[in-house]
Amino acid sequence: MTARSDTPLHMIDVIRKKRDGDALTARELAYVANGAAAGTIPQEQLAAWLMAAWMRGLSQDETRALTLAMRDSGERFSAARLGKAAVDKHSTGGVGDKTSFLVAPIAAACGLAVPMISGRALGHTGGTLDKLESIPGYRTALALDEFEAVIKRCGASIVGQTPSLVPADRVLYALRDRTGTVESPGLICASILSKKLAAGLNALVLDVKTGSGSFLTRAEDSAYLAALLVDTAEAAGTRAVALLTDMSQPLGAAAGNWIEIAESVRLLRGERPAEAEDTRELSLQLAAWMLHLGGKAASAGEGYRMAEAALMDGSALSVFCKMVDAQGGDLSVFDDLEAAHKPGATRVLKAWETGYVVEMDTTLLGWAVQRTGAGREVAGAPVDPHAGILFHARYGARVEKGQHFATIYATNEAMLDEPAVLIRKAVKLGAALPAAQPLVRSVVTREKAEAQLRDAIR
Ligand code: URA
Repeated sequence: MTARSDTPLHMIDVIRKKRDGDALTARELAYVANGAAAGTIPQEQLAAWLMAAWMRGLSQDETRALTLAMRDSGERFSAARLGKAAVDKHSTGGVGDKTSFLVAPIAAACGLAVPMISGRALGHTGGTLDKLESIPGYRTALALDEFEAVIKRCGASIVGQTPSLVPADRVLYALRDRTGTVESPGLICASILSKKLAAGLNALVLDVKTGSGSFLTRAEDSAYLAALLVDTAEAAGTRAVALLTDMSQPLGAAAGNWIEIAESVRLLRGERPAEAEDTRELSLQLAAWMLHLGGKAASAGEGYRMAEAALMDGSALSVFCKMVDAQGGDLSVFDDLEAAHKPGATRVLKAWETGYVVEMDTTLLGWAVQRTGAGREVAGAPVDPHAGILFHARYGARVEKGQHFATIYATNEAMLDEPAVLIRKAVKLGAALPAAQPLVRSVVTREKAEAQLRDAIR
């Protein structure tokens, strides 16, 4: 049944249509998004619709229409007022992923405006806001006019979603989390992009994770999501590129809250700890594309050189400190990063046998981090800023039995056991050196995305 534009819509018809595998119109998808935002569609009907959309999938056209309807479900931020190209980076979620703390200040130091609206820990993945709030005093809940003032003063601001920005996603995301409907390319794309497009960006770089720690663990699903994100953003007028990146092990050594901030500050100071080289490299590649799409660099290669210079000459560190200060954070904790770390309980986990690290179930490692107290079990619960795990051995490393494998920082002694058990379960040590995993698997440009989606339809 196709609803004429003057006939009233009924949620039961929209659910049945999707359940039966028919494509929904833009009007029907706007009805769902607006009804979710306004609270006029009961939760059970939204949940049924989400499951139908998860099972049947959303076409490219449906994904575009849902994204725009969700974007328009609330207030929007006008990045045009910033007076500079507004560019952001977004990751689909990972373990130890702290690149935001590097790319935002690097891009701002090179002349872009970075209005970054971030999220909290979700499932096994960490949350940018929770990590930033481990800096005493740092405020993530800024009204849009203060957000704008911080960006104008510092070049970048990292905040949480305001209640009025994309309310449809707030409702639908919470329901997806409770109804097993998170892992859907169309729904993920609409959720991520509705928030990014509501920020009025000129360009967006997407870090689409693939591998054992990503939401979509099959490589073909991550590749499809990358193409869908780029195509949908470009169709909405925002320049976009996606990097398909490795999440088959945590990014860097630190996964948690304060310990991730501390690792980031070391990198911003120009230090090069070997175990965080992947974080540094990925941050530079993401920042390079931000600078290219934002018009500051003629190519991603030139963007990379600019990004590296901003990291090494201290200008990115200076933007980061200015932003932290502007948002109420106490900069004195950066004076002694070790002394500022005050975990409730600490345990060193030693390698249980000799061998190469041949496999890391990074989703399980993410749950191990969450169980230290660094993440939350229920929405709204507090997190422990000092909890987390430092991994001393990386994928492919050879470890000797008894060597330090990880240091677990938990809220209390009783919370040390479960992470230790999960790490042992997640990590396989073997006799043969495993094949190397490239950090960046591919770069999906607009042209590549179009070709990939055409092939997916054929
Ligand atoms: N991040 C989001 O904002 N939404 C999703 O659906 C997945 C990751």
